[in-house]
This record gives sequence, C-alpha cells and structure tokens, in this order.
Amino acid sequence: MNKKQIRVRKEIQSWRRCVKPTMTLASGWLRRVAVGMSVVSIAACSSLYADEPPITESAFPIRVTLLGTGTPVPNPRQFGQSILVEANNVKLLFDCGRGCAHRLWNLGPQYLRDTHHVFLTHLHSDHTVGIPDLYLTGWTMLRPEKLSIYGPEKAKDLMRHIRLAYDEDVVYRVDLQVSTLSRDLLEYSVTTVSDGDQFEFNGVRVTTIAVDHHVIKPAFGYRVDYGGHSVVISGDTAYSTNLIRYSKGADVMLHEVMSPALENFVRANFEKSMADDVVALHTLAPDVGRVFKESGVRLGVFTHLDNNPAAIPELIQQTRQTWQGPLEVGEDLMVIDIGEDIEVRRPPQPAAPARK
Ligand SMILES: [Zn+2]
Repeated sequence: MNKKQIRVRKEIQSWRRCVKPTMTLASGWLRRVAVGMSVVSIAACSSLYADEPPITESAFPIRVTLLGTGTPVPNPRQFGQSILVEANNVKLLFDCGRGCAHRLWNLGPQYLRDTHHVFLTHLHSDHTVGIPDLYLTGWTMLRPEKLSIYGPEKAKDLMRHIRLAYDEDVVYRVDLQVSTLSRDLLEYSVTTVSDGDQFEFNGVRVTTIAVDHHVIKPAFGYRVDYGGHSVVISGDTAYSTNLIRYSKGADVMLHEVMSPALENFVRANFEKSMADDVVALHTLAPDVGRVFKESGVRLGVFTHLDNNPAAIPELIQQTRQTWQGPLEVGEDLMVIDIGEDIEVRRPPQPAAPARK
C-alpha cells in the first residue's frame, strides 16, 4: 500500500450487513435490562461498515464519524452538528445536535450507551438540542459512566435545567416503574473550558481552541491528538487565526462553512443588517480554503452546511480560489479514518424512487 494516500470510497454496499447484528444485540440488551441485570455486555458491531475492522483493530489511530452535518434548518438527510472521534478505545463526542442519539444508535446500541464525554463548542441550540436525548436515553440503557460535559461556563445552567425539565420522567422510571434505574446514574459533571486547556483520556489528548463566532462568546474548536495523528474541529467560527495557530500540521480539519447557497438564502430572506450579522458569524468558502492552506492540513472537510448536490459545485469552485488540496463535503455517517493514510468512506445513497 502506498503511504500517505487519501482514499475516498463513495459507497459501501455492505453497510446493511451491519444492521441485522445490531438489531439482534439491541434485543439482547433489552432482555437483560428487563431482567434487572446491572452489567450489560454488548458484543461489538462497532464498525459502521461490516467489512471494516472496529477501531480497536483498525490500522488507523483515529476514526472520525460525522453524526450530523446540518444547519439549524431541519433536514432529514442531515441531522444537527455532532462529530464522534474514536481513538484508543475512547469515544469523544463534539457537540450534540438534533438526531445525535439516532446517529449513535446507527453505529450500534453500545455507542449510545457508552458515549459519555461531550465537548460543546458553544451553546447555540443546533449544537446542544440533542443533549436531553443522549442524557436520558443513555441513562435508560444503564450508561455505566456519568455524562461528562466540557464547554462554556453556561453549560452548567444548561445541564441543570435539562435535569429539572425531565424530573417527572425520572419520577416515572425510578419511583413508579419496575426498573433498575436510579437517580445516581443521572449524575453528570460540567467542566468549564478555556483557550489552551488540555484533557487526556487514555492517551488521547484534546486541546481547546478559542475561535471567533462573532458576538457569541466564548466559542471553541477542539483538536484531538493520538498516536502522532490529529483532527481539528472548528466549531462555529468566522475566519480565526487562533484556530490556524493550533491547527498547524494537523492531518484533518472539519470546518464549518457559510456556503454560497446559504449566504444567498440569508440575503434574500433577511433584512440587510440581520443578514450581515448572520454571515459574520460564519466563514465564507474562500476563507475556509485559506484556513486549510495556512494550517497545512492534509485534508479539509466541510460541515455545518446544506449539502444539497445542486449547491456543491459553486461551493467547491469558491473554495478552489484558495485551497487546492484534498477536500470533502461532509455528510451524515461519513467516516474518516486517520493514520499514515487517510480513508474517507461514505454511506450508500438511498435508492432513487421508482418512476410512476
Ligand atoms: Zn453557532
């Protein structure tokens, strides 16, 4: 195999083969909860793609799965912002937008149960609205570790209110129903982060990067390093020199983008000062290209966009003004394995509807 390749596999026909064992495991898990076992053992169907080894056996030190790549606008093809990074048996979730729990379940029930480290880039609702689902549904699955949130200081208020908002559900499940659930299992922690803070999990290092989300302060990106490889997640930001500074030499950068199509939509539908304000929150495609170039990343990936195929050519064309390197447009459940090589795999496209 040639080293330092970037391969893109557009479609994996074997994806569905993973579905059946996943559902079988789900049934087994439900039975175990029903009989009150406190320890749940779920064999791993831990690769989205049945012909790929799970991360623990992978030749790639880091696996990134784009769980949600969309914008605040509901879109059944693209759920809200959520990115899963796996390395050395550690699962790290970056943001928890709409549908996050669904997408984790797509990877296997153990992903929803075992994902408990959550890094928040900022507190816009499209990055956090999936937290109650992850928090409470993971609890009903007997999540063995408490949820650990990292993010802006106000995340403490967010979690306190989520806990209170669902207290009646807790009363039902703990006090009224027959179950093994307890309030103790709903404990959580919130760690306030700031620029340069580092966290380590089984040798996997996360570095906090202050970015520029216009009037939204603080806002963060994160860099994950493991085994000599790395991925950077921009979070929501305008062009950020601090992000570039922390991203030097990273393998892959996932960056938000204010695509030409979205900018046109905003300017056509909002009064000018409001449209200017929305656009200032984000990064235009040529500026994302500058960030990729100035960081020196091996692969740039767009997220936080409407990836409608009709809008992609203009996005690519604008990005190519400043970035000639490898470039991918993110989609939900896209997997990026990072090592000496970088391999991008996309889920199969749904079959076109039959003609009438
Ligand atoms: Zn935002």
